[in-house]
Amino acid sequence: MFGPPIVGGRAKARPERALDEFDQIAQLFRPLTFGAPEALDLMDDAAVIAGRPGFDLVITKDAMVQGVHFLSDDPLDLTARKLLRVNLSDLAAKGAAPWGYFLAVAWPPAYDEAQRRRFADGLRQEQLAHVLSLLGGDTVSTPGPLTLSVTLLGWVEAGRMVKRSGARAGDVVLVSGVIGDGGLGLQAARGELDALGADAVAYLADRYRLPTPRLALSSALRDHASAAADVSDGLLADACHIGEASGLGLSLDLERLPISKAAAAWLSCQTDSVAAHAALATFGDDYEVVCTTAPASLEALCAAAAEAGTPLTAIGEVRAGQGVSARWRGVEIAVGRTGWRHA
Ligand code: ADP
Ligand code: MG
Repeated sequence: MFGPPIVGGRAKARPERALDEFDQIAQLFRPLTFGAPEALDLMDDAAVIAGRPGFDLVITKDAMVQGVHFLSDDPLDLTARKLLRVNLSDLAAKGAAPWGYFLAVAWPPAYDEAQRRRFADGLRQEQLAHVLSLLGGDTVSTPGPLTLSVTLLGWVEAGRMVKRSGARAGDVVLVSGVIGDGGLGLQAARGELDALGADAVAYLADRYRLPTPRLALSSALRDHASAAADVSDGLLADACHIGEASGLGLSLDLERLPISKAAAAWLSCQTDSVAAHAALATFGDDYEVVCTTAPASLEALCAAAAEAGTPLTAIGEVRAGQGVSARWRGVEIAVGRTGWRHA
């Protein structure tokens, strides 16, 4: 291990240069292991994880690139929290309990020590909220944009992970929370929705910068859902993923989409309400959960979700066939994954 340079027999602080890789591991990342024995204090080449009898390890990975998945001037503590949250959202949809993670960071040289500490501080805040330990990772430099990646691990009782492939024809399709805030939030953060007023802009931008992973739904999904996916690419695209994995199609009623007050304000300014609803359903970045359940389990699923403080809204059903079809007040409209047009 590398310690601080010894000058005249005393450790000398070195504020004049950025933390090197070893300083970063020791100062920024080791404290984030929270003493998890599997991390071996980040002193070894690898972590080692003992299996838990009766449980499956559920593993997901998401990467974020500056300018693509977050804005260049977003504060780094928020970016760090979003990095963990987008991964937590995947585990929430699988009914798994988050436990630990691996982190890869590729820093452009321009990021100074204060920014790197701010990033680590954001990770710490988010870890404390979820009882999550950092178990290992890699720290490199890049001539490109800041690039971040997390591999998140969680546990679920053996065989009980909620898959995308479990939907059956006749199942009800539901979605958590509200849809469209993520995409509108990106526009708001870019200053494109100022006409909605400062409160709506602040609310929406915050929803983009710091989505809420629906971990509270985990046990409801495990107990009562036939299939689930997190909504990162857009409701229609992610619903389509459930259909594809289950070998079935889905029909969704766009007028049933749950939306926030801010999204409703945005909708009221749009000339084509159908097109605007379709846009909300294709934007992405919502980090809600779309799931399916047998009609017989619908009441139990909704009650468990409400109990968990995260209501679900029924928005359609699973049917034979393939793809997602969207309806507006019972009339089918053609909506692509990334766009829409009237049928
Ligand atoms: P290698 O010799 O394989 O490059 P490193 O010296 O990069 O290994 O890593 C040493 C230890 O520090 C390992 O336990 C690794 O998991 C950990 N580590 C390095 N970077 C990070 C990071 N960004 N987050 C968490 N752990 C890290
Ligand atoms: Mg090594």
